[in-house]
Amino acid sequence: MPRFGRRLLAAGLILDTAELVCCGLPLVSWMGASPWDSLWLRVALPLTLAVWAAAALRMSSLVRPVLEVVAEVREGGKPKPAETEVARLGLARAPREVAVIHLLAWVLVASALPVHAVLGRERDPLSAAALIQLVLVTSAGLAAIRTLALEIILAPTRAILMPNLQGIRVFADRYRGALLAVGVALLGLWQTALAFFASTLGKATGELLTSGMYALWPVLIVGGYLWWRLALARTAPIEEYFDAALRTKGGKGPGRDDPKAVDAFVAAQRTPYALGVVQAVTFVAAGVAAVVHLGSGGRIGLAMAGRLLLIVLLVSLLATLYQTLLAQQVLRPLIRHLGSRHALPLDQVRAPLGLRTKLGGSLAAVLVAACAFVWLFVHAHAMWGRASLAVAMAAIFGVVMLLVRDVVSPLRALEERSGEMAKGQLARPVPPWGEADEIGRLAVMFEEMRRSLRDRLRSTESINVDLEREVRRRTEALEQRNAELHEALEKLRRAQDNLVRSEKLASMGRLVAGIAHEINNPVNAVINSLGPLDDLVKKIAAGEGDAPATLAKEAEEILAVVQRGASRTKAIVQALHGYARGDDSVQREVNLARSVDDTLGLLQHRLRNVKVAKDVEPGVRIMGFPGQIDQVLMNLLTNAAQAIGEKGGTISLAARNQDDRVLLTIADDGAGIPQDVLPRIFDPFFTTKDVGEGSGLGLSIVHGIIERHGGHIDVDSHPGQGTKFSISFPLPPVGGGARNPPTA
Ligand code: ADP
Repeated sequence: MPRFGRRLLAAGLILDTAELVCCGLPLVSWMGASPWDSLWLRVALPLTLAVWAAAALRMSSLVRPVLEVVAEVREGGKPKPAETEVARLGLARAPREVAVIHLLAWVLVASALPVHAVLGRERDPLSAAALIQLVLVTSAGLAAIRTLALEIILAPTRAILMPNLQGIRVFADRYRGALLAVGVALLGLWQTALAFFASTLGKATGELLTSGMYALWPVLIVGGYLWWRLALARTAPIEEYFDAALRTKGGKGPGRDDPKAVDAFVAAQRTPYALGVVQAVTFVAAGVAAVVHLGSGGRIGLAMAGRLLLIVLLVSLLATLYQTLLAQQVLRPLIRHLGSRHALPLDQVRAPLGLRTKLGGSLAAVLVAACAFVWLFVHAHAMWGRASLAVAMAAIFGVVMLLVRDVVSPLRALEERSGEMAKGQLARPVPPWGEADEIGRLAVMFEEMRRSLRDRLRSTESINVDLEREVRRRTEALEQRNAELHEALEKLRRAQDNLVRSEKLASMGRLVAGIAHEINNPVNAVINSLGPLDDLVKKIAAGEGDAPATLAKEAEEILAVVQRGASRTKAIVQALHGYARGDDSVQREVNLARSVDDTLGLLQHRLRNVKVAKDVEPGVRIMGFPGQIDQVLMNLLTNAAQAIGEKGGTISLAARNQDDRVLLTIADDGAGIPQDVLPRIFDPFFTTKDVGEGSGLGLSIVHGIIERHGGHIDVDSHPGQGTKFSISFPLPPVGGGARNPPTA
């Protein structure tokens, strides 16, 4: 059987016993000398037991589906909706139905027996009516306690059966009923306690049990009515809040700062005190009425009346303390809900009583009550006296325990939550435990602190998230821009390659025009030599003319001219072939001396009136594309030749290894470059030459090629004194080709 099953059983047994003691005993004692062979034993008791059995059966039939569904859910199963519905109904009905069955049983017994006695003229109707009233109120109080107890025991199963149901919704449906149940329960207990304590003082006072009781009625009825009206009026702001929060459909409900929430909080805080006050007044008035009734009938003396009045006051005091503390307990879920959902301005929700007044007052009342009870019952007759004292002390102890709990529990909750907050867990609210006394206000401020901390943290986090998003966005934009730049660079490279190629073609065109002229001379020499050679051969064959030896010598001379012309042509064609070759796709070792020789060979026609001073170390090599290196030399030498012009001059060409670089210098003593032109000579399409002479691309291409080879170009020029271009290349890597021999 699950835990709450055992609890249900225990609560049932305790309450059944209490009913027998509180309702059965007065009935039996009222009925007189030999109750055991009376109607009580023969009819009433079996009847009561039969009704109890029926109640127990009803209880088990209502609660069994609940137990089954809960067990199924705990084992991880998923109960059918129909089963859950049955269980839910059982849960809602069980506490009330069982309590009502018990109440009905006592109504039946408590009315039937006295009526039977009156009809048999054994008792007077007035005392019978008083007895009926006593038993009815007591059994109603016990029924209310039974309802509350069953509700409390079954409450945990509600969360299992209906996980989606908000606790505050359940509360809204039940809290007024619960307040009423607490009121009725205390009424029953008050009356029982009063009757019990009075009866222990002596036979005469025992009559308070019976004949004194009907004097209570009018006061109790009026007081009860006022009490209920007050409960309705005082809880009206709470109802308004619930109307706004739960009962209006579609709306968002009251906001965090809604004044309705503050009103509801204040009402929840004040209602227990207001109800306690009305109850205290009612109880004291009713008790006084009963005592006055007894006293005026002359049945008790003044001293005894005084004692009875003291008992009335003490029992009413305890009942009021309980009423207040229990009503606070009933309203606690609302207070906690409001505290965790809404902003509560401390000056508006301040509790009506401070902690000092509350604790001091309650403890003083409890102390006084304890002393008074001791004084009252130490002299009462022995057995009953001790029992009464024990009951009174138990009741006082209960009050003390509730008070202690009200102080300790909120402090514990705060302690636990501050521990959580210290670990950075700020999600769970810190609701006040009860009213906004010193501890409650501390909790409210604590909750404010938690909220602002959490909000701060959230805003920092959101700033971080925004920053991260921004950084990501910028990075993406940069990456995209980078890709675009990359693409543009690629296009530029291709365009540059095309330019290099087209400039090469153009310069080749110019070259070919010059070279055609250059080849013309040797070829002419060869052709012009062929006629005389032919004549000589014929003469030798015919044996005419000079001596053959002389003729042969002549022929040799002509052949030498032919040979020179042919080799010059061959050299020119070879150089041209080298210059025109396509570029390799991979770099390879370039012999600078060879490139210089080839280029000079090609440019011979341009360098006719130029002296070339060549100082190239034979083994100087660099890594690169030979065609492009040739183009560099071609462009620089062409510019130098153009700068020297017709008047003639010198071009000095040197190449050597220096430190870890290869240094190539080409200097001329031509016109030089004016200072204002100097910064622009590497710009593409910048030229100072006439159309047909220069494209303005030569130096820009030279610059591009040298950069691509990891090299560097410098120019030093003075107008009228000449120009010197200095180029440095990196040495070829070790193992990537023959390393240049070191030079002194
Ligand atoms: P181009 O030779 O087709 O004009 P370049 O880019 O080769 O184009 O040269 C740009 C300009 O730099 C030339 O027009 C010329 O004014 C100047 N320049 C280049 N080399 C020399 C030099 N050795 N002496 C004097 N001026 C030069």
